[in-house]
Amino acid sequence: MIVNQAWSLEEGAARVSDLFTRTFGAEPEAVHSAPGRVNIIGEHTDYNGGYALPMALPHRTFAAVRRREDRLVRLISAQEEGVREVNLDEVDTHDSANPVPGWPAYVVGVAWALEQAGCCPFPGMDVAIDSCVPFGAGLSSSAALEGSVAVAWDAMCEIGGGRAATDAGRAQLVEACVRAENLIAGAPTGGMDQAASLRCREGHAIMLDCRDQSIEHVPFDLAKVDTQLLVVDTRAPHALVDGQYAARRAACESAARKLGVDLLVEVPQGADLSGLPEEERMRVEHVVGEIARTKDFVQWLREGQLDSTRLHALGDLMVASHRSLQELYEVTCPELDAVVDVALANGAYGARMTGGGFGGSAIALVPADKAEDVARAVAEGFAERGFNEPHFLYAEPSAPAK
Ligand code: ADP
Ligand code: MG
Repeated sequence: MIVNQAWSLEEGAARVSDLFTRTFGAEPEAVHSAPGRVNIIGEHTDYNGGYALPMALPHRTFAAVRRREDRLVRLISAQEEGVREVNLDEVDTHDSANPVPGWPAYVVGVAWALEQAGCCPFPGMDVAIDSCVPFGAGLSSSAALEGSVAVAWDAMCEIGGGRAATDAGRAQLVEACVRAENLIAGAPTGGMDQAASLRCREGHAIMLDCRDQSIEHVPFDLAKVDTQLLVVDTRAPHALVDGQYAARRAACESAARKLGVDLLVEVPQGADLSGLPEEERMRVEHVVGEIARTKDFVQWLREGQLDSTRLHALGDLMVASHRSLQELYEVTCPELDAVVDVALANGAYGARMTGGGFGGSAIALVPADKAEDVARAVAEGFAERGFNEPHFLYAEPSAPAK
């Protein structure tokens, strides 16, 4: 069974400092890090103005940095080939004649966005990256990378810096990361991932209002109640994902127009949807139900200590979310459905897919003493069905970028 262990802060810092020194022949000036994230509930609600409930993973991306006298950024990542160089004066948008190629776009893009937001021109920097956040598993390695360099740039900035010291400042860093990813890296992203990575709190999940990006820290201290959040990276082959995501968004927008609202968050539960074409009705039913489930989930968490009744209630909401994503939103796949079925048959309180769907990861809320059995049963279930071998992570709600 493959369990993807998180590195301790010390281990991550040691690895990335070593990579830095071997590459650039000097000690780094500072080491920063930022977590990946997992969404607990509230799926495909963000672009409908709804709510999501992400939390930070213990798995982090580490950045060792040292400022330079010029405007050059030299970069190395343990996850990518070779040393790269980008001049901060030559950073241009993804749709320009000279976009920044590859992964360095995430790093210099954040500096570009922060300069636009009023930070004084940055010095160049040598940067080494290493990470234990899985790539492309829907656990947001991109936001972890952006978050780690956002706090590094912020610490280096003499005028307009120091934003990481307050939540309001961190919200501005989130915005810069989103702009970097959208405009410089050219990848569509809403902001949930970056908010989780930069604004989370240990032992808490974040209730994110996707309309105005306001947040509430909600206690979600699973260790205290001997409970584990098991993350299953299904390693399912991604097929047809891009078109499907766009199609879901388009269906939501079309239904909103017919219902006379800007965003589906404005549609009340129990609203008359009979005038919608069948497919749009299904999509709206999911979104409206999912927003209600997310609010209910948060209400259970706000009310106090997670006893067995509450854990079962949370589990039921997770399963209802999955069934809705499976039957109404139609974004699951056999691997994601199998995780849920096998986890429930082996004593999980609940389980669901997380992220956009069609592959990626699923989560299960499990009594701590059953977590290993559930993981083993999922691994065996995958082998029996001829699926790829899954990877497992244990997720405690962890600390923000620092
Ligand atoms: P995810 O769901 O993991 O965020 P994305 O496609 O959004 O998937 O982001 C993955 C991309 O982010 C990678 O292709 C790479 O360009 C960049 N990236 C993330 N982590 C690293 C890293 N440790 N080193 C270099 N690039 C990284
Ligand atoms: Mg990403």
